[in-house]
Amino acid sequence: MSDDPRLGLPSASSFAIDALCPGRQQLLRELGDIPEPVDEDADKGTRLHAAWEKEDPTGLDSEDVEIYECGLKLVGEVKKEWIEIIRGTGASFELSEGPREERFWLHDSNGKVAASGQADRHYVALPNYVLAIDFKSLWCRSLVPSELNKQAQLLSVLVAREYGATHVRFAFLKAMFGKADIVDYTSEDLERAQYSIQQVLWESNQKDAQRRPGAHCRHCKAAAGCPEVAAWQMLPSVQSKAQNGHITPKVATELVVKISLLDCRKIWESSTARHNIEDACKARLKALPEPMLSGLGLTFGKPKILHPITNVQSAFEFLLSLGVPAAKLWSVTKMSNGELAPVVQEALGLPSKDAAEKWIRDKLGGYITPKATERPLERI
Ligand code: SF4
Repeated sequence: MSDDPRLGLPSASSFAIDALCPGRQQLLRELGDIPEPVDEDADKGTRLHAAWEKEDPTGLDSEDVEIYECGLKLVGEVKKEWIEIIRGTGASFELSEGPREERFWLHDSNGKVAASGQADRHYVALPNYVLAIDFKSLWCRSLVPSELNKQAQLLSVLVAREYGATHVRFAFLKAMFGKADIVDYTSEDLERAQYSIQQVLWESNQKDAQRRPGAHCRHCKAAAGCPEVAAWQMLPSVQSKAQNGHITPKVATELVVKISLLDCRKIWESSTARHNIEDACKARLKALPEPMLSGLGLTFGKPKILHPITNVQSAFEFLLSLGVPAAKLWSVTKMSNGELAPVVQEALGLPSKDAAEKWIRDKLGGYITPKATERPLERI
């Protein structure tokens, strides 16, 4: 945790996940240092945020420069509107910009740091007003609207406490879309937000706080070591929604090593139920008229034509007459116990199929090569 600017504590950018999954912080602590994901999108975000911080686009490519400029244009617009609103109240104020990329801290009642949040930019119109800004450099299609957004909530409370402000305007600047998503917090809203934040922190500090998997796990740093998300990903309803829903044997192995042994047992025990459900789904789909089936994006494929040799005796004699050696033909001619048993039962007048199978094992033992199957799992 030494390089972690969040000190291993809840932070605004992932506070929504903490709210949905109280046990996450404990798992993060257990897992220790987890490297930040490195990918092209993350790099792009880092580059753009650095440029916005320094207000210097040097090193950005033309596409990034466009996003960068759009972000700055949005800052200007949002700031202008915010100042006009304050002016409209008739209040006198002193305007300044706070340090960029500033991290603010929340302390608990014992003075211990409990959470933090970083504002890309913030402007203060003292004594009462603060504008906090968070740039979004990518598509951020799944960004929760600002009124419901936990990052906005925590950061608004943090900046309000820092400056003793009674009104906070929080703005997500979606630079790629050229749009801002804004929420205003009054002193009553800030008070309510603070209770809500404390509730999240209290829940995540409980011993044995539950981990609750869901779609939010996609953005959780702990996902790679989380047994609950691995079990959740195996739900058929989740798999069917996954973009890459196909669980190959390799993917399945990787998922299964993360889940608990007890969950392994539960999943194994329910395999018959799952197969039955799959069969019932398939049967229901197959019974649909073609137009309805195609409405679901499905169609009937070509049936496979099988060519079983049913008249073995004639085929055997024919092949023999063509000069195929009898020994070779016998080597590919099979007699199964299951099919032979009723024949023997009838011919020898044995009382049951079981008795016929036993007779085959006893009397034809010299012609049988016993083969053990894998040991099956059984309940004790
Ligand atoms: S992966 Fe999901 S369930 Fe696991 S800790 Fe993260 S948010 Fe919680």
